[in-house]
Amino acid sequence: MDFGTLLIHNGHEADPTTGALGVTLYQTSTFDQGNAYKDAIDSGSVSPQEYDYARSGNPTRKALEETIASLERGARGFAFGSGIAAVSSVLGIFKAGDHIVAAEDIYGGSWRILNTFYKRWGLEMTPVDASDSKNVKKAIRPNTKAIFLETPSNPLLKITDLKACFTIAKEAGLISIVDNTFMTPLLQRPIELGADIVIHSATKFLGGHSDVISGLAVTKTEELGKQVYAVQNGFGAVPGPWDVWLVIRGIKTLKVRLEAQEKGAKKIAAWLSSHKNVEAVYYPGLENHPGKQVNDAQASGAGAVFSFKTKTLEQARKFLGTVKLAAAAVSLGGVETIASYPVAMSHASIPQNERERLGITDTLIRISVGLENPDDLIADFDEALA
Ligand code: PLP
Repeated sequence: MDFGTLLIHNGHEADPTTGALGVTLYQTSTFDQGNAYKDAIDSGSVSPQEYDYARSGNPTRKALEETIASLERGARGFAFGSGIAAVSSVLGIFKAGDHIVAAEDIYGGSWRILNTFYKRWGLEMTPVDASDSKNVKKAIRPNTKAIFLETPSNPLLKITDLKACFTIAKEAGLISIVDNTFMTPLLQRPIELGADIVIHSATKFLGGHSDVISGLAVTKTEELGKQVYAVQNGFGAVPGPWDVWLVIRGIKTLKVRLEAQEKGAKKIAAWLSSHKNVEAVYYPGLENHPGKQVNDAQASGAGAVFSFKTKTLEQARKFLGTVKLAAAAVSLGGVETIASYPVAMSHASIPQNERERLGITDTLIRISVGLENPDDLIADFDEALA
């Protein structure tokens, strides 16, 4: 079945009791368990029913969890109140004294939770440039339990060879975790390539309309699913049913949105590459991107996010202050184009010297291309860069 069809027909296309085409929104905190107790009068024991309390499970949330599990080809799916709640909850399966090898340019918030909260609780982390898998191998220690990757990386769109890293992880008995937010399962399915856990900020392309904060995780196996469920239920960073419902709706149109957005990204990135005030463009869809070949081998597209550096700080400031069709904002993946300034926004929590080492300079601008006509965006960007 084509992936676009699976986005619509994945077991949740109609409500089984009413036939409604929209997934039912169960706005409830608890569930009546009277029948279970009635049965107990005859049988002598209370049999647990599927739903008892909405932190532990909710049918609307279950529809999203099963949908993302089938799209990512995993055994179990989990929904969270945000992408970072998904990251934090997955990291919650580890214990003090464990060590994680993480790509050095993961999302700034993931970097922060590893370097503050989890560091305090004794989870060690070594950041590496994962675009060379040898660095991942070198960083493995006797207490390493997992590798944490994100490709394309954020915000410089570096590509990591997932299969090479998963092979290294398997040899060392490690869990491979991938943040697949930028690509979505439409373009890249890490579990098919050998990952054990996939994470999403569903706030981005999956939700797709800049109107919800949400996160997801998918485990390859039931066993890992049990561990993540224990944290989801125990930690309790679950989403409300309204937010879940918005993500379910967003997923249905993922293919048409992302394909159009990617087409726009390719056109604008190519145009920017020859602009006189642009120093560099970072987009794996460009022929000169060093990771293009690897990305083409493991993903079916380059996505709709790219970054570029202006030649001077003034040009970057002027662009962000005068661009009209792109919101100067945090986030990505919505139908509206967003221009982010990583040094002051997504990566502000990374110390300045570390940011500079990573190439996240004050001339770097990240663009998430929306559904506007790319020619209108080019005309607008041209004025803002003049
Ligand atoms: N992962 C990536 C790649 C992100 O870009 C973000 C947010 O920008 C997150 C995780 C965190 O998601 P959220 O903002 O939904 O908590």
